[in-house]
Amino acid sequence: MVNPLQRNLLRTRITKLTKLKSVSKIRDGFFFIFEQNFTMENICLECGTRLYGRFDKKFCNDQCRNNYNNKQNRDETGFVKAVNRTLRKNRRILKELNPNGKAKIKRKQLDSRGFDFKYFTNVYKTKEGKVYYFCYEYGYLPLDNSYFALVLNKEI
Ligand SMILES: [Zn+2]
Repeated sequence: MVNPLQRNLLRTRITKLTKLKSVSKIRDGFFFIFEQNFTMENICLECGTRLYGRFDKKFCNDQCRNNYNNKQNRDETGFVKAVNRTLRKNRRILKELNPNGKAKIKRKQLDSRGFDFKYFTNVYKTKEGKVYYFCYEYGYLPLDNSYFALVLNKEI
């Protein structure tokens, strides 16, 4: 048997190792003893219920695991969807203002349509150091006095 002092030392050590997620590396040896003599206390990541048993258990059951993972995915998907929506809107605006593949416009034409300058899919830098911003195949180049040159990259 392990006496209470040893138990506390083990518990402390296990807790630290659990945090480092390196417990699997030391599974044989003293961890084996730990499993034989103690149960580890953890909390379900989904519902907060106390968990007993394996030290690496994270959920009470499959339902909690699924709920947790679905929430994670939903958040991510929501963000990705929002960015994609903005990119498609930017492209639609550039396309509308540039029906012939080349145009010169004022900034307010972009602003009034709700163009979002934070989002673009790629940039193209010329040898002269000019930077074109693209939303898919439609691009723009900021010019002087709030003008923009619009371009179309047919090779994309
Ligand atoms: Zn749970």
